[in-house]
Amino acid sequence: MSSYRPILERVYDFKPVELPPLRQELERELRRCQDCGVPFCHASGCPLLNAVPEINAAALSGRLRTALGVLLATSPFPEFTARVCPALCEGSCVQGLHTAPVPCRQIEYAVIEGGFAAGLVHAHIPAQRTGLRAAVVGSGPAGLAAAWRLNRAGAAVTVYEKNARPGGFLRYGIPDFKLEKSVIDRRVRLLQEEGIVFECGVEAGADISSRLLGERHDVLILAVGTGKKRDLSVPGRDAAGIHFAVDYLTAQNKLNGGEIAGLPADCDAAGKRVLVIGGGDTGSDCVGTAWRQGALSVCQTEIMPKPPEGRAPGNPWPQWPRILRTSSSHEEGGERRWNIGTLSFATAPDEAGRRERVSAANCAEVSWESGSPVPVPGTEFSLPADLVLLAMGFTGAEDGALTQASGCAPDRSGRLPRACALPGGPKVYACGDAALGPSLVVRAIDDGLRTAERVLSEANAG
Ligand SMILES: Cc1cc2nc3c(=O)[nH]c(=O)nc-3n(C[C@H](O)[C@H](O)[C@H](O)COP(=O)(O)OP(=O)(O)OC[C@H]3O[C@@H](n4cnc5c(N)ncnc54)[C@H](O)[C@@H]3O)c2cc1C
Repeated sequence: MSSYRPILERVYDFKPVELPPLRQELERELRRCQDCGVPFCHASGCPLLNAVPEINAAALSGRLRTALGVLLATSPFPEFTARVCPALCEGSCVQGLHTAPVPCRQIEYAVIEGGFAAGLVHAHIPAQRTGLRAAVVGSGPAGLAAAWRLNRAGAAVTVYEKNARPGGFLRYGIPDFKLEKSVIDRRVRLLQEEGIVFECGVEAGADISSRLLGERHDVLILAVGTGKKRDLSVPGRDAAGIHFAVDYLTAQNKLNGGEIAGLPADCDAAGKRVLVIGGGDTGSDCVGTAWRQGALSVCQTEIMPKPPEGRAPGNPWPQWPRILRTSSSHEEGGERRWNIGTLSFATAPDEAGRRERVSAANCAEVSWESGSPVPVPGTEFSLPADLVLLAMGFTGAEDGALTQASGCAPDRSGRLPRACALPGGPKVYACGDAALGPSLVVRAIDDGLRTAERVLSEANAG
């Protein structure tokens, strides 16, 4: 049901690509919701346990206030998930057994944006404060959700964020054409009205010491995300023109947000042949960003095999369908290749003759043997590239002054332990990607809420 702005219009700007759903289409789709006896969308799809059939029934009968109330009962920030969630609920919709699932994400969009437009979304200031002083480190979706829940329960909450503005990957990773940043600002204003204090541009553990954090707060929640990017150690990696995808996306987001006046030359794809290594969401966001910057060509490679068009036998409904996904960015053009390994980068001296610049990636097809990719002899080829973006995921949370002081260092899988403590000081909890590993906005929100619940129940017990 999604409709998008025409490609030839949208690739020249960073405005949202998806159009709001039309009322008539929405009604048609809402009628397809069967109010199933066992609503898998709610029970096994949505991590937040959104009561999708109840939301849909209220929306269909025009009871916006009720639909909004049911949605907000489980989901504090539906305006984020309505834009970027892969919609795990839709993967388990009963209609999806035979035809297209009910488009729950667009319905969520209509309900929350309808609610904002009708003036139904307000700040809720807690009637009384309990005296609990909580610090949340990191203002991505997990940190915002934890802060929201603790504040609603009457805690005094301060969010520390090392970036200049709050939002984590919502602001600095995901491009504006998927999530316009005014949506984050609107929510942060509400959270501030509710009493949450944001201290941005403050790196916890560095700009404010762990000792001072311990003195100021009774409890600390680390929602610091996964700062460590997966690298590619092959010959030529150090050449100019090879960047981590997330640094590239951050530069464009900062430019759009007015935080910087221009793109660093190496983060500008204009007139360049762009190679994106990594076939996930981050890679797809690089494809869309590169087109908007005026790339000459874009190629995206993935080391894993091409997913099937439909569900494989071992991936039955109502599991999340592991199938080929084509994003709005892919529809804008470019080449996609699977089962491709990068062996090395070819380089040439830059114009000033000072530094080696990337000129191509030397690749080969791979076969999968005992779970590892093995280059297939004789399949080697070269992909010309002036800008290479490494979008191969993240290896875990960073181990900084704060995690070291609290004994909360990441384990071998890169995840922070769920709970530890500053020496002689407050308890420290971890949530979101930092504790789960790289995940999704909806899971980060859910984990922030659950962690806040744990903090509250332990604070009450203690
Ligand atoms: C490019 C990209 C595209 C994505 N697209 C999607 C998508 O379409 N849909 C989806 O569901 N998910 C998407 N994801 C994943 C999603 O964004 C993450 O799962 C989610 O943001 C994790 O939330 P978080 O709060 O745990 O961490 P983050 O969002 O990473 O936030 C962590 C925050 O902690 C701050 N921080 C770290 N250390 C400190 C410190 N010492 N002091 C102060 N602040 C600190 C960081 O600056 C950051 O702001 C995408 C991710 C990326 C990178």
